[in-house]
Amino acid sequence: MTEQQQADLRTLAQQALTWLSSHDIQPDPINYAVAWAYCGGGQNSDLHACLDKSIVQGKHIDSHLLHDLHERFLGVDDGGLDQIGRNLQAMLKGLLQHLAEAGDGVSAFGEALTQQVSRMEREHSPEAFETVARELMSATFDAQARNQSLHQRLEETQRESERLRQELEASRQQVLTDPLTGLDNRRALDLHLFNMLPDASMQPLAMLVADIDRFKSINDSHGHAIGDVVIRNVADVLRKFTRSEDVKARFGGEEFVVLLPRTTLTGAIQVAETIRTRIEQLRLVRKQDNFRLEPFTISLGATLYQPGESSESFFERADAMLYRAKEGGRNRVVGE
Ligand code: GH3
Ligand code: MG
Ligand code: MG
Repeated sequence: MTEQQQADLRTLAQQALTWLSSHDIQPDPINYAVAWAYCGGGQNSDLHACLDKSIVQGKHIDSHLLHDLHERFLGVDDGGLDQIGRNLQAMLKGLLQHLAEAGDGVSAFGEALTQQVSRMEREHSPEAFETVARELMSATFDAQARNQSLHQRLEETQRESERLRQELEASRQQVLTDPLTGLDNRRALDLHLFNMLPDASMQPLAMLVADIDRFKSINDSHGHAIGDVVIRNVADVLRKFTRSEDVKARFGGEEFVVLLPRTTLTGAIQVAETIRTRIEQLRLVRKQDNFRLEPFTISLGATLYQPGESSESFFERADAMLYRAKEGGRNRVVGE
């Protein structure tokens, strides 16, 4: 590295740290990585654009947001897929090797048979017959032994593949699930949108975008742990008052998206109203000290998919309705 490059890196590091402290965010490795990328390290224009947009929208720029961005644009947590892939490869290599050996064994058996057949054509003595019988027996014995070990090996492989299949399923779940709420994460939501939008059988397809009202003040007055409990309770309401075929995702922070296949706008607004009132009625009490959290509310926007439009435009229209609900005084549902 040239001296100039070193100096540039130091400047970049300084800028990242200054940027973090200007937002009063602690420089943990994740926050630092995002700030470093934002200040120009690593050419991550998607991250840059997304963070700029959040700033313009007046979103709270804090550690939660940066951790979110890290997961979306920098994190490559594949839930151990790499290791599983390596195990699978090693297992297949072992099996192929074994099959090749067994193949050698089979052809050796064939050769032994041919040899003994031609010996019987040449020699007709009892001694010769006895030799043939002995040779055949030993060749058969060999082949059987190889066969048995192949059989065992195949059974082992079968068990091992089943185990790997389960591991893959678990890691797929992990990659697509929001750890705090167990709902789908943003990545899973994107996948669902990708599959559902072109599928005519899903229509009419409705989307709800929901955001907890004045959530920052819950965090500020009671701490983030209570904030997290609130987020989990909202997720529970979403799970409870939607159908199993509906997609329920935590979109980020205290925002959620629900996709409702085969649902009209009126139907979607009804679901949103149910969710809104159930959340308004929640009374959370901490058992150990009987601490009662004041009631809180949620605002929702609802819209219908217009066949042919992009998932971004679908979301933006729903999000615009959410914005109207906030502007209209919060704790309400606005349908397009
Ligand atoms: P509004 O009614 O306009 O939505 O106001 P608000 O306070 O809910 O919205 P704002 O976007 O200002 O604040 C959201 C806060 O959510 C900011 C951030 O600190 C917090 N947050 C984001 N993710 C998490 C999380 O995972 N856990 C907790 N406890 N807080 C989070
Ligand atoms: Mg929000
Ligand atoms: Mg909010």
